[in-house]
Order: sequence, then C-alpha cells, then structure tokens
Amino acid sequence: MAHFLIIGAGIGGLTTAHALLQQSHTVQVFEAAPQIREVGAGLVLGANAMRALNELGLHAAVHAHGTPVRLLNLLDQRGRVLQRADTTPLTRAVGFDNLGIHRARLQQVLLQHLPASTVQTGTSFERLTTEGTTVTAHFADGSTASADALIGADGIHSRVRKQLWPKSEPRYAGYTCWRAIVDARQLNLPAGESAEVWGDAGRRFGYVPVGNGQVYWFACLNSPQPRNPQFQAYLPADLQREFQAFAQPVPQLLALTEDHQLLWNDIQDLPPLAHFAQGRVLLLGDAAHATTPNMGQGAGMAVEDAAVLAHCLRAAPTDIAAAFRAFEQQRRARTARIVRTSWQLGRVGQLENPVLAKLRNALMQLLPAAVSRRQMAWLYEEL
Ligand SMILES: Cc1cc2nc3c(=O)[nH]c(=O)nc-3n(C[C@H](O)[C@H](O)[C@H](O)COP(=O)(O)OP(=O)(O)OC[C@H]3O[C@@H](n4cnc5c(N)ncnc54)[C@H](O)[C@@H]3O)c2cc1C
Repeated sequence: MAHFLIIGAGIGGLTTAHALLQQSHTVQVFEAAPQIREVGAGLVLGANAMRALNELGLHAAVHAHGTPVRLLNLLDQRGRVLQRADTTPLTRAVGFDNLGIHRARLQQVLLQHLPASTVQTGTSFERLTTEGTTVTAHFADGSTASADALIGADGIHSRVRKQLWPKSEPRYAGYTCWRAIVDARQLNLPAGESAEVWGDAGRRFGYVPVGNGQVYWFACLNSPQPRNPQFQAYLPADLQREFQAFAQPVPQLLALTEDHQLLWNDIQDLPPLAHFAQGRVLLLGDAAHATTPNMGQGAGMAVEDAAVLAHCLRAAPTDIAAAFRAFEQQRRARTARIVRTSWQLGRVGQLENPVLAKLRNALMQLLPAAVSRRQMAWLYEEL
C-alpha cells in the first residue's frame, strides 16, 4: 500500500481521501485555510456525481443532507416557461437523484467521515520536489511531508499546477456572480424544482432548493473587466435594482437576503489542459479542469475524479504513475467537453443584445424536450 499527500481539502481533496483510505492507502491532506470554511452557497450534485459518491460509500450520508431536484425550469424574466425538463426518466435510469445541497453541509459530511488526523489545516503548499520514487511537499511554514505520490486538489488557482504547467492560466468568462442561501419557507416554492431565468441585457438568475426550507440563489451580470470595484461593493439592495424587471420569486429571494449572506465571484474557468499527470503527481478537481458553473458540474466532476482514480489504482495497484496516466486518459475528454459546453451555455445565457435575447428565448421554447434530454443523457450515463 502507498502513502499519498493531497493538497487542498475541498470537495475534490476530501472525496479523494475517502477513495484512497478505502483501498488501505495512507493519506495526509493539507489545507491552506486555518479551518474548513463554512461557505454559504449551494450546489447541485448531478445524478452522475451521486453515483460516484455511492461508489465511495458516501451516498446515503450525503443524500440525507440535501433534497432531490427533479424539475429544471428555464424561464424568461417575465416568468414565462421556455423549457421545463423533468429529469426523472434520466435519473431513474441512472438510479440516483440530482441533489440540491448546502456546500458547507456537504463538506462537513465528507470531513466527519474521515479519521480525525487526516486533514491538517493552516498548511499552505508552496512547491514540490521529487527524488526517485519519493515526492516531497514544501509548505509556507518551512515544514515538509514526503510520500509515494502527491495529488493537487488545490482549486482553480492551483500552485501544484503552476509548478507543473506554469503557462496554464484561468480565463475570465466576462460575467460576475453573486450567491446566497436564504431561508425561503415563507415563499412556498414548489418542492424539487429549480429554475434559471434568462433576462435581457446579460442578466441571469437561478435558484434551487437545498433542503431544510433553504434556497440557494445565484445572480449573474456581464462585466467586461474582472474585479470590478463597483460590483464588489454591491449589496442585495443593488441586486434588487438590477433585477427589478424579473418576476417573482426573484425579488422575494433578494429581499430575504441579508448583506452578510452575499458571496461574490467573477466567473472563470481553465482552458482544457493537455495533461493531468506528471509521474507521481496528479491534478484533479478544479486544479485540473475548472469549469464555469453553467452546467452545475464542477463539484460533480471532482467527485467523479475520486471514483475514477479509485478504479485506476485498483487496476494498477503497484504502479502509481501508470494509474495516474490511466486517470488522465479517462478524464480528459469528458471534463474538456463539460468545460467547453458550459462556456458556450454561459455565452448564450448572458446575451446582452435584446433582439438576440428574444430570438434565443423563442428558440428555447421551440426546442423539443427530447433534444434537451439527449443533451443531458451523455452527462449522466458516461462514467
Ligand atoms: C458561482 C459558482 C457556482 C457553482 N455551482 C456549482 C454547482 O451547482 N454544482 C457543482 O457541481 N459545482 C458548482 N460549482 C463549482 C464547484 O464549486 C467547484 O468545481 C468545486 O468546489 C471544486 O472543488 P475542488 O475541491 O476541486 O476545489 P476547491 O473547492 O477550490 O478546493 C480547493 C481547496 O484547496 C485549498 N488550497 C488552495 N491552495 C492551497 C495551497 N497552496 N495549499 C493548501 N491548500 C490550498 C483551498 O483553500 C480549498 O480548500 C460552482 C462554482 C461557482 C464559482
């Protein structure tokens, strides 16, 4: 059995720790943050991600903390339905639900089910060195750790990736996003339904139930420049103004949001990499294939990575570098397709020209349900 170092205790790092421990490898996870933060945002884990969690023995624990999402509604800003996708036939075929879940609850579940000493917080990775079959991680506090292999699960701005492939840089998508989770019991929104609202002038809003009466919402606006100071200062009241033409429950969800609940991020992704593995070092999750959030698959891909890595290590238990190469081979095409499709979807959703936006909405209404079902099928069925 081998010893692994994992850099980053996000969803990718934690699920990978589970996958490795289940095969009796030993694992140390190093996290830069002083503690695992309670990020007040939500996620949809697609049925494909739930299937991967099942392979890792984590399905029941995670499912208990979220709520199934069966209907995906696409609306225009007046609240008219452009598309209504019932995912039940697909999720029934896969055997797992799409799950809306609070991100902090997901991370807690993943953490709680690991042995207490697995994750070391407050330890920021700086660089790695290799000697023979040993990989050594060097941390900002001067400490080091050595193992048979190292996995970079340190997110879109991965330092592990920067060392291996210094030219790879995240790219800004041209729009920026606010998110929050609110207690929306009083709104009596239909159970198991999520919605995305495509407005005019590059405005987009989405919401999804995450259990316990809570709803996760996101709001996107175009911004030619990233880190726009005007947007950085935005409060829910500013978003109320931006989205005032949107039908309920958009203004209601914004009205329920307190200033401190608001999260803000520019949307970016990582142009697909040619490699995820180099010898006994592997990238996974956002470090390897960060995507824009338009398909709700970033965390799902990180979970799938953990399950696929488990398969690859089982198939080549004595040759870690070969297992890492096999992982790269299995994951590159699928993750690149998601990155590309999500990028294009974002461009369509953020259309600013009112004529084009009207045309887009009309086309979405005409799109037969079978076409959008087919588009979803590859996402759920290939793993
Ligand atoms: C607006 C938005 C909405 C989204 N919605 C969805 C959704 O609905 N469904 C979905 O599946 N995905 C969604 N995602 C994507 C999802 O959040 C990410 O894909 C997922 O969190 C990636 O997990 P990860 O573990 O690879 O990286 P991260 O979650 O970024 O974790 C990386 C970890 O590494 C740590 N780290 C970084 N540098 C170092 C270092 N030098 N040393 C040690 N530790 C380090 C970080 O502190 C962090 O804890 C969304 C993303 C955004 C921005």
